[in-house]
Amino acid sequence: MSGANELFESYKNVKIGCHDCKGCSDCCRGMGNSIILDPFDFYELETGLQCTPQELLLGQVELNVHEGLILPNLKMAGEEEQCMFLNAQGRCGIHGFRPGLCRLFPLGRNYEDGKLSYFILQDACQSTKDKTKVKIIHWIDITPMEKYERFLTDWHYFLKDVREKNAALPKTQWESGVKNASMNILQNFYLNPYDCKRDFYEQFYERMKL
Ligand code: SF4
Ligand code: SF4
Repeated sequence: MSGANELFESYKNVKIGCHDCKGCSDCCRGMGNSIILDPFDFYELETGLQCTPQELLLGQVELNVHEGLILPNLKMAGEEEQCMFLNAQGRCGIHGFRPGLCRLFPLGRNYEDGKLSYFILQDACQSTKDKTKVKIIHWIDITPMEKYERFLTDWHYFLKDVREKNAALPKTQWESGVKNASMNILQNFYLNPYDCKRDFYEQFYERMKL
């Protein structure tokens, strides 16, 4: 994150309101593999679409290497390189359970000293100059926000820890170490289906203990 960016906590009002994205779907197109999905996104997609993780991976989601770990991200497809959940009207077909990074845009997350804060990705959303002020918790619109932020922070530091352990491996063990870590993470947090009738956070922290 650039040091010049102002940081905000989630109860703050920030100038990012873009009039319900009317007529715009720019951040649903041409995003490459940047919309990385976390375990909460998988739980939400499995629940909302009533599908298995394997079905997601055969359709709208793909695996890629992200900073040395294999993780899932939304797939961009077609001539316009657009998200497969974007409907014919140019609106999100899964708005109620869209992934966290979609909810966040045009904000970014900053983690420092075990705390999560937010910053505005300058010039990321160019739909209008006439932006309105919105409270970040309303923009992200996930309740309870405290639990969600706790999860995001724990997940971030967990992945950071794994990446640091991988980076410290001797060269001869690096490839197998990275592969094993990725496979364990994928299996434990993504491929093993969530029980959609149970609370996500309970299941996530049970899996973290493993
Ligand atoms: S670029 Fe801005 S206005 Fe366009 S869809 Fe994304 S958030 Fe909405
Ligand atoms: S999930 Fe919805 S909001 Fe996110 S990129 Fe796809 S269409 Fe856009």
